[in-house]
Amino acid sequence: MKITAIETQVCHARMRNWIFVKVITDQPGLYGWGEATLEWHTRSVVGAIEDISQLLIGEDPRRIEYLWQMMYRQHFWHGNGIVRGTAISGIDLALWDILGKIHNVPCHELWGGRVRDYIRLYCHLGGGKMEDFYETRADDAHRFGELAQQAVEEGFTAFKSMAVPETMPLEGLRPIRYAEACVKAMRDAVGEDIDIMVDCHARPSPLMGMQFARALEPYGLYFFEEPCWPEAMDGIAAIQAAVSTPIASGERLVGVAAFKDMLEKRAVSVLQPDITHCGGLSEVRRIAALADAYRVALAPHNPQGPVSTAASIELGFATPSYAICESVHSDVPWREEVVSEGFVVEKKGRIVKPNNRPGLGIEINEDVVKKHPFQQEVLQRSFYRDGAVGDW
Ligand SMILES: [Mg+2]
Repeated sequence: MKITAIETQVCHARMRNWIFVKVITDQPGLYGWGEATLEWHTRSVVGAIEDISQLLIGEDPRRIEYLWQMMYRQHFWHGNGIVRGTAISGIDLALWDILGKIHNVPCHELWGGRVRDYIRLYCHLGGGKMEDFYETRADDAHRFGELAQQAVEEGFTAFKSMAVPETMPLEGLRPIRYAEACVKAMRDAVGEDIDIMVDCHARPSPLMGMQFARALEPYGLYFFEEPCWPEAMDGIAAIQAAVSTPIASGERLVGVAAFKDMLEKRAVSVLQPDITHCGGLSEVRRIAALADAYRVALAPHNPQGPVSTAASIELGFATPSYAICESVHSDVPWREEVVSEGFVVEKKGRIVKPNNRPGLGIEINEDVVKKHPFQQEVLQRSFYRDGAVGDW
């Protein structure tokens, strides 16, 4: 059995272009789907996949770990940067899909079988509508409350918001008070039985992140995400040491060694590897094992396309430390047309029952993909009041 081709198929999805990866074999009808979506770097990732495919054509797709080592270590440059890490991840997902199809079992059965009966999904405020999630103003607490209520009406028991405004490295009380008002409005709207998350997008400095974390502690957040840059990991660790709110981070890290540093520093209580960036299902399973050793929860980052979600669900059914799955359901109307999924989502509670189809259990409709070709992603840029460059 041999790999004969590795194709990329790009499907525009407004803020992102989903990059679907199709690994094709010499066995009739046997191929796998992966995803390597990296917004604002679509052309680079497509090129990186083409470069890496030179190593894999003619190889046996069943030797996933051997091929992973090749992709990560050969050509001299290791695959621990975001573009190459994403390219490797996309191919790795497709290889696992192929292996599941060969053995006619879902991927989670390849990894030891189901460890749970269902997986809970959480949504973004607005369900993935860019304007609601990213552009609701921090001084519009009422709107945060409305959107929170809407998430609960749609069946979710957990949702994420961006209730922390962009701040310069040092600012006074105003942004802190805005964040408090937004989180209070959401808590008042949905009560204490619903889990609320706040993502800071690593906008604050470590000092501002600390102030936000302390101010929001009384609201009992499910987790508080990326309170400062991952490059300032000691800052994240200091925040986690100062508050009992679980701190979450990891979506920008590639490779198990980076996650080891984060765990060793006791920086987080929730680890958020992105399966389409960190090195794929092969690498995230190593990361998950490490998280288990530290008794840290896993909640993979997953705002991308439908193959990423299917991979996250398969991982969750076989991974004890997996706590919850991020999901986006109304980013673009063609999301549901692009994919057929093997798992079932129950609307009440938004819980996922296991996929019974082989591999990742998905099929991509290539005709629908062709209707939405690459377009430049909507640029999201941030500048502070004084004109200096900020973090989005
Ligand atoms: Mg995030």
